[in-house]
Amino acid sequence: MTHLLENYGKRIPMTFTHGEGVYLYDQTGKQYLDFTSGIGVMNLGYSFEAGKAAVKAQVDAIPHLSNLYENPLQEEVAAYLDYQGSYKAFFANSGAEANEAALKLARLLKPDTTILAFEDGFHGRTFGAMSATMQDKIQKGFAPLVPGFTKAVYNDVESLSAAVTDKTGAIIFEIVQGEGGVTPITQAFSESLKAFQKQGILLIVDEVQTGNGRTGKLFGFEHFGLEPDIITSAKGLGNGLPIGVMLAKTEYATAFTAGKHGSTFGGNPIAMASAKAVLKQLTQPAFLAEVTENAAFLGAELADKLADKASVVAIRQLGLMVGIELRDANQVPKVLVAARAHGLLVLSAGHDVIRLLPPLVMSQAQLADGVAILEAIL
Ligand SMILES: *Cc1c(COP(=O)(O)O)cnc(C)c1O
Repeated sequence: MTHLLENYGKRIPMTFTHGEGVYLYDQTGKQYLDFTSGIGVMNLGYSFEAGKAAVKAQVDAIPHLSNLYENPLQEEVAAYLDYQGSYKAFFANSGAEANEAALKLARLLKPDTTILAFEDGFHGRTFGAMSATMQDKIQKGFAPLVPGFTKAVYNDVESLSAAVTDKTGAIIFEIVQGEGGVTPITQAFSESLKAFQKQGILLIVDEVQTGNGRTGKLFGFEHFGLEPDIITSAKGLGNGLPIGVMLAKTEYATAFTAGKHGSTFGGNPIAMASAKAVLKQLTQPAFLAEVTENAAFLGAELADKLADKASVVAIRQLGLMVGIELRDANQVPKVLVAARAHGLLVLSAGHDVIRLLPPLVMSQAQLADGVAILEAIL
């Protein structure tokens, strides 16, 4: 009997008691190599001591401050996120909330226009973010949704061109569709999006999963020469503390005048202390270069050990975000179970994809350990 709502389905009958580095330990003491990072959250692993110390100190100093007062910690975190000195930050507590802020800002900037989103995209479970999440399984049963959203096929330039009208005010998209099946954006598609931006359509890039070093850059869009009007980020930003952020180009940010938006907990000092430590680490000169190197190593291992398997259709990757598409979708849950039995945690995505999101601090030897387990299972 559970006192919890069952929206997460039947939970996996195991309890983790602690983590260390890139490993989790269950109640029997069994060790698991974590290729999930708590779904892209624990990017710096379970032994990120600078973050832990900052959080503990902040709990003792002041755990919460209202947004009525100046907040130097928020300023410091926002300064780290101020890509090329052209963005201002609004802090929220989750990815969905960051996207809600982005959708509201876009609507303010382009009154009475529609927002275009892509099939198999994922932007969160709140009403606005869900209305932008063009997946039947997520929207089903919740009609009427928020009006003013239209859709097109991701990475399909013709579908995009056909879907854009003179009513289109903004386009929201991921650099890698994560939940939808780990599909990186193509260069051609990003060029097409840039062309629409030149015509005045706002680009909202949802970096909730791809941000914070996941792809080897602070933001995934950096790989494609994009210059978003609005950016959202969350998951890995607090290395375990709940935080979301919307970044808006300075010239657009001013549309959020006093009273237009807000959040009681947004920019909470404990989350900020953690995010500051995370960003300090991510911006160390050698850090992301090493992520990129390790991602290349992982890609080579996967190509070597898994690409030729009959059960594998394709392997897609950007940085340390990997999708292994299987021939048989029914095999996906079995792989998750078998991996756990071998002491490895992996995720699924879409309906036929095994998703790997190892912590950014995982060593090449540990990455190879995980691939060896997958090789044995597949
Ligand atoms: C996880 C995710 C969200 C939703 O984030 P929450 O913190 O669960 O609200 C939104 N967009 C993308 C791309 C995500 O991966």
